[in-house]
Amino acid sequence: MLMDAWPLCLEHLSAEFPAEDVQTWLKPLQPELRGDTLVLFAPNAFIVEQVHGRYLPRIHELARHYGLGSVVLEIGSRRERVAAPATTAYAPATATTAAPEPFNSNLDRHYTFDNFIEGSSNKMGRNAAWMVTQSPGDRAHNPLLLYGSTGLGKTHLMSAIGNEMRRLNPLARVLYLRSDEFYNHFINSLRAKNTEAFKRQFRSIDALLIDDVQFFAGKEATQEEFFHIFNVLFDGRQQIVMTSDRYPREMEGIEPRLKSRLGWGLPVAIDPPDFETRAAIVLAKAAERGTHIPNEVAFLLAKKMRSNVRDLEGALNTLTARANFTGREISIEFAQEALRDLLRAQQQAISISNIQKIVADYYTLQLKELLGKKRTRSLARPRQMAMALAKELTEHSLPEIGHAFDGRDHTTVLHACRQIRHLMETDGKLREDWDKLIRKLSE
Ligand code: ADP
Ligand code: MG
Repeated sequence: MLMDAWPLCLEHLSAEFPAEDVQTWLKPLQPELRGDTLVLFAPNAFIVEQVHGRYLPRIHELARHYGLGSVVLEIGSRRERVAAPATTAYAPATATTAAPEPFNSNLDRHYTFDNFIEGSSNKMGRNAAWMVTQSPGDRAHNPLLLYGSTGLGKTHLMSAIGNEMRRLNPLARVLYLRSDEFYNHFINSLRAKNTEAFKRQFRSIDALLIDDVQFFAGKEATQEEFFHIFNVLFDGRQQIVMTSDRYPREMEGIEPRLKSRLGWGLPVAIDPPDFETRAAIVLAKAAERGTHIPNEVAFLLAKKMRSNVRDLEGALNTLTARANFTGREISIEFAQEALRDLLRAQQQAISISNIQKIVADYYTLQLKELLGKKRTRSLARPRQMAMALAKELTEHSLPEIGHAFDGRDHTTVLHACRQIRHLMETDGKLREDWDKLIRKLSE
């Protein structure tokens, strides 16, 4: 009778919690009776933690209802009959001959190499990520650090590494953790006085993927802990992949010795995608959702949503939702209408005078210096930059732009555009300024 209690509990829980959660956290639990105590075996420490935090109170209630005395969570499996204490994390892969226990990699399965669109902005990152899947742990790309602004596909690429590793080897122990998850697990282990177990669980993994390490800034104890885990993995030739929103050297609040390690292997920048890549991403995402959108609509979105793929996707979502709701086809007119408010808000932000102001601020110049006649390099270059940005971001003609720059000739504007385009290919700093300014202006 009591033995039936867990299936009955599970039935209730399935009705009360989302199917996916039940699948991930509750189905892996294996029940065993010890007297009138229900022992639930979990395959690893993360599942114990999740179940403990989210479901245990409810499981207790249900168990009592079905006549059980109490419920305890343990790490291990019923078959092994070696109930490891709950402080032991993942059992080493070689410890048992029983069927391999499921390893919760915490990965988002949706992010793969197949649905990652390659362009010049992310080509190096994609190649590096792919190399990791082919020879994890190789010194040439360990650790791999993908860095770049938000919404450019870092998490997507990092998850693709994990998913590909698991496709190639289903037993690969790949663990994905956002930095805030790492932090929370660590803090919980401090509170529960089992930091040893926290550390131990990283020892037997093949790859550790830590997302958004800039989150560690100012959190010294967490950095210290991560530093040690990093060293153990690195020495064991286990693969480490990290992402951050900036180059390690520019990170503030990160300890120097950790900072230096972040840059040890291969740091690769992910840049904002160019127009063609943005358009290809829109078309691919639409196809993924089973929505047909004409090329010209993809071009409109790609033209207007410049700096962040997440926003680009957001605009596509708005569009498809509106189309489904009204039952209309997605034509260019429909897109212009559906996205009118969004596009107008953007257009207002991007006026010539706003560009001048932002560029002047960026180079810490007075507006009248930027617009004035002096031709010293420190003034001329920002001036050209502002003109080229005005051409790139607004619909104004060359003469109109020239006029807005203290009545200059349209040939001056044309020259500025050519000059900047040329310099962008050779001058990394200028390229960076351009990207930053575009981002400032189109956000
Ligand atoms: P980040 O981690 O850099 O902030 P994400 O990986 O979360 O960015 O990407 C944001 C969204 O944009 C995701 O839905 C992701 O799938 C999508 N995305 C970004 N770059 C690409 C790309 N090159 N191809 C396909 N989708 C992309
Ligand atoms: Mg991310």
